[in-house]
Amino acid sequence: MSLTVEHISFAYEGHKVLEDVSFQVSPGTFCALLGRNGSGKSTLLHLMAGLLRPAMGHIKLAGRDLRGSSRSSIAQRMALVLQEHARIFPFTVLDVVVMGRTPFMRLNQRPGPADYELALRALEELDAGHLAKRNFNRISGGERQIALLARGLLQSRENLLLDEPTNHLDFNNQHILLGRIKALCEKRGTRVVAAMHDPNLALAWADQVVMLSGGKVLAHGPAAETMTAEMVGRLYEADVRKIEFNGGGFFMPRPPGDRS
Ligand code: ATP
Ligand code: MG
Repeated sequence: MSLTVEHISFAYEGHKVLEDVSFQVSPGTFCALLGRNGSGKSTLLHLMAGLLRPAMGHIKLAGRDLRGSSRSSIAQRMALVLQEHARIFPFTVLDVVVMGRTPFMRLNQRPGPADYELALRALEELDAGHLAKRNFNRISGGERQIALLARGLLQSRENLLLDEPTNHLDFNNQHILLGRIKALCEKRGTRVVAAMHDPNLALAWADQVVMLSGGKVLAHGPAAETMTAEMVGRLYEADVRKIEFNGGGFFMPRPPGDRS
C-alpha cells in the first residue's frame, strides 16, 4: 500500500513553492525530506496531511486520492507532528497526548479512560511516562517535542509526517528518538516522512531521502546512495566533503578558504 506524491505543484497567493514534485514512500520506510530553509518541506507535509490542497497533482494513499477523503478519515491514517512553536496548551502532558484520539471521536465526545490508557502507553513507549502529569507549558522544549510525537503515535502508526522531529533534542536524544522512529518502521511497518535539517541525522537513520531545492526535487532515492558530498553540497549551496568510515560517514561543510 503505497503513499504517492504525483506531480504536485503549490503556491501561496501567487508565491510558487512547489513545482512538479513526485516521489513514493513504501510502508515501513523512513523517508527524510531535506532542503534549505524555505524550500517547501513543511508545506509538502501539510499537503500530504490533506491540510492544504495542491494546485496541481495528486497525493494518493493506497491508490486513492486524498481529495476524496474527509479530513478526519485522513487524520485517522496519517498523523502530522508539527514543529513546536508556542506553549499553547494549558494542560497536562497526558491531556495533550490524548488529543491524538480526536479523529476517532464523535463531535463533543470526551476522551474516556481507555483513551487515557492508550495515551499513557504512547508516552511510555517513548520513555516519557514520567511526564504524564506535568504541565505541558512547564516542561522543556525537548520534552514537549517528545510529548507531541507521542500524540502523533496515538493518532496513527500507519503514517507519521514529522516536521523537524529532533528540534530541541540534545545530541544523544536526537539519536535515541530517531532510533525509536526507525524501530517503528521496522517492527510495525510505520511509514515516516520527516522534514530534517541535519543531513548527518538523515544519513544515519533514514532509508530514503527527498531533496527539495527551488521548489523541485533535486534528487530522491536510497539515503546512502543519493546523499553524495556533491549532492548535499548542491542542496545547501556549500562546499561539502564526506568523511567516510567503516559502515558510515558524515558530511562537513568546508570553511571558506580551506583547500584541504
Ligand atoms: P524551514 O526549513 O525554514 O522550516 P520549509 O522548507 O519548511 O522551511 P516552508 O515553511 O514550506 O519551508 O515554506 C516554503 C515557502 O513558502 C517559504 O518561502 C515561505 O516563506 C512560504 N510560506 C510558508 N507558509 C506560508 C504561508 N502560510 N503563507 C505564505 N507563504 C508561506
Ligand atoms: Mg519548515
